[in-house]
Amino acid sequence: MIAEVIINSNVKNLNRTFDYNIPFDMEEKISIGSRVLVKFGNIKSLEEGFVVNIKESSEFQVKDIADVEEKDFVDEPRVEMAKWMAHRYFCNVFDCIKLMLPPGTGTKDVQKRVREKSLNSVRLLKNKSQIDDDIENKILKSEKQIKVLNFLIDNDDVLLTDLETITEVSKAIIKTLEKNGYVEIYEKQIERNPFIHKVVERNTSLNLTEEQQHAYDMVENAIDDYMNSEFLLYGVTGSGKTEVYLQLIKKVLAEGKSSIMLVPEISLTPQTVDRFISRFGQENIAVLHSKLSVGERYDQWYKIKSGKAKIVIGARSAIFAPVEDLGIIIIDEEHDGSYKSEMTPRYNVKDIARYLGKKYDVPIVYGSATPDMDTYYRASKGDIELLELTKRANNSKLPKVEIVDLKQELTNGNRSMISTKLYKAIEENLKNKKQTILFLNRRGYSTFVMCRDCGFTAKCKNCNITMTYHIKQNRLKCHYCGYECNALSVCPDCKGKNIRYFGTGTQKLEAEINKLFPKASTIRMDVDTVNKKNSHEEILNKFKNENIDILIGTQMVVKGHHFPNVTLVGVIAADTNLNIDDYRASEKTFQILTQVAGRAGREKDEGNVIIQTYNPDNFSIEFSKKQDYKLFYNLEAKLRKQLKYPPFCDIIMLGFSSENENDIKKVSSDVHKYLKSKIENDNIPIILYKPVPAPIDKIKNKFRWRIIIKCKFEDNIIDIINNCINNVFGKRNSSVSMIVDVNPNNML
Ligand code: ADP
Ligand code: ZN
Repeated sequence: MIAEVIINSNVKNLNRTFDYNIPFDMEEKISIGSRVLVKFGNIKSLEEGFVVNIKESSEFQVKDIADVEEKDFVDEPRVEMAKWMAHRYFCNVFDCIKLMLPPGTGTKDVQKRVREKSLNSVRLLKNKSQIDDDIENKILKSEKQIKVLNFLIDNDDVLLTDLETITEVSKAIIKTLEKNGYVEIYEKQIERNPFIHKVVERNTSLNLTEEQQHAYDMVENAIDDYMNSEFLLYGVTGSGKTEVYLQLIKKVLAEGKSSIMLVPEISLTPQTVDRFISRFGQENIAVLHSKLSVGERYDQWYKIKSGKAKIVIGARSAIFAPVEDLGIIIIDEEHDGSYKSEMTPRYNVKDIARYLGKKYDVPIVYGSATPDMDTYYRASKGDIELLELTKRANNSKLPKVEIVDLKQELTNGNRSMISTKLYKAIEENLKNKKQTILFLNRRGYSTFVMCRDCGFTAKCKNCNITMTYHIKQNRLKCHYCGYECNALSVCPDCKGKNIRYFGTGTQKLEAEINKLFPKASTIRMDVDTVNKKNSHEEILNKFKNENIDILIGTQMVVKGHHFPNVTLVGVIAADTNLNIDDYRASEKTFQILTQVAGRAGREKDEGNVIIQTYNPDNFSIEFSKKQDYKLFYNLEAKLRKQLKYPPFCDIIMLGFSSENENDIKKVSSDVHKYLKSKIENDNIPIILYKPVPAPIDKIKNKFRWRIIIKCKFEDNIIDIINNCINNVFGKRNSSVSMIVDVNPNNML
């Protein structure tokens, strides 16, 4: 028998299978999905591969499979799904299979690690900018050392053995880094069970309200009838969506089937998990979370694979958990951007959920207080069943929202970031010992540095983007590539000394609040204060438990937590998202304002929300004052329809990047020509734009161009693009890399 094997490789041309002979003694062990080792080309060592098909014979002269892993990792349906994904997301099948493998696959000593209780772990002692400086100043030269450090920047606190295998460096290299003060190697207690330290009180189902009961019944019918129906549970924050999920999962569990419960990464807090543990107990639950160590994730993965845990709670990638007998998929906060992957494979978890739902005839429940335009559109067409929860479950009122016009504030002579109305409200709140959240979606101190004399603006030397001033280190930072330099006192162009700092970030806001309210305690939460493991959690706990007066933060403050004592939320500048070059600007603004507003007054005290803006007449701001999603949806849908934006058509972005701009021009123009000819031939209704530089046309010294296609993302365009990649793009040897992203989160 012959196996078609896909080899683990990022090389584009290897996105095809190779035939290998299955030796007689392996025939029993090898099936579709088996992990094998094979000799490939002239490479000395054996390469990893997966069997994706088995057939009688091959037209080629074939080698034998060298070895096969005893355990099965992926099964035939999963290999099918990986193939489907690779075609749809324009990537290698192997990239997709990787998402379905147990964490740490490929590392030899995973097995050994499972039995051990404490192991050497490595953590960083320097931060990213210090490391970047050392690289720039040639203090750090060894490529291997840099590789290890870069890996640690993205995944701090990694087991030594993992680090060695993943980065393929020897222990000596890591020891050198320790000697030079970059990392620390320490004995880490391995928590075999990430919940073990917790004793959570068990509770039972609540009596559902009428609305909840209706929603529950509808989904229950679908479960009973093995229907692949989709439901949108649209309910304001605190309306009891989670209680509905819990009872649906209970039903599925009672039938011996599994549930996948997805939540946005940032909402996957211990509090969230506790609600499930207190209902179902630890033994039934597995949590898949990027903050778990590789070993912990491995345990959770096997807890699912072995059938012990039938409830999977996790972020995006948990959709690939190895569940048997799937009974329901629930996607909470379904509008959240984190459900779309911004890395290869650039999948949207909802596509995958629909694929699985269809295949296994199970219902999908999407939940949100501010549904994604696309989801609501599908609900309005009847493709998704709309289930509404219109009231808060504990009868607390929705907060009162007021809008302050900052232009008017300026006319009145108030140049501060805090309007008179917000100032008075904070003052009142401090007096009443209530807590306040101030939200500003920009970090740093000043966002824009300019020379008054010649108009010079400080831009990153690697990226075409302005630098942000960070007062604590007195440095300018690029928020795209992390490049830093000293703050300017003299203009590099005209040598003038009139350097001015414009714009505001969370650092400046905190400084201003400390000046205006010297007695108030404040805590800040943004990327600069949140870095180590759990720190996001720690800041929020501190705010809650120590009753800090004012929490100042970016986007991060919006999600999750329930703060009973918060009665005032101030939005410092509602316009930050409005002026970006993105068709979803209004949607994002509406969502974020509604969500921040939802943080106020969740208990008996009524909440107050003050939104400051330069665009009080903008509809997304106006409707968030009314907290009326449907008004917002109707108007936004009209605009999107006129402009041919999702949900009325899809946006396919072909992104090109290279250090050589001429190469980009050439390649993107060839791709454009090919697409144009195919589209004209096939007569597809499509809008194809010419290649142009992206809004941010340079990042990390690479030029960025793009081609935008507007059309329905269906088989014919998918085929055309795949052919283009294979026949035009893949055939050339140039410096240009290309990605294809469908309805990308980030249009910049
Ligand atoms: P959501 O998920 O929509 O934000 P939750 O499910 O968290 O809402 O519910 C908000 C609060 O209301 C929680 O404290 C929850 O325990 C309570 N709650 C939900 N449903 C009921 C119910 N049927 N009866 C009483 N309290 C409820
Ligand atoms: Zn930069």
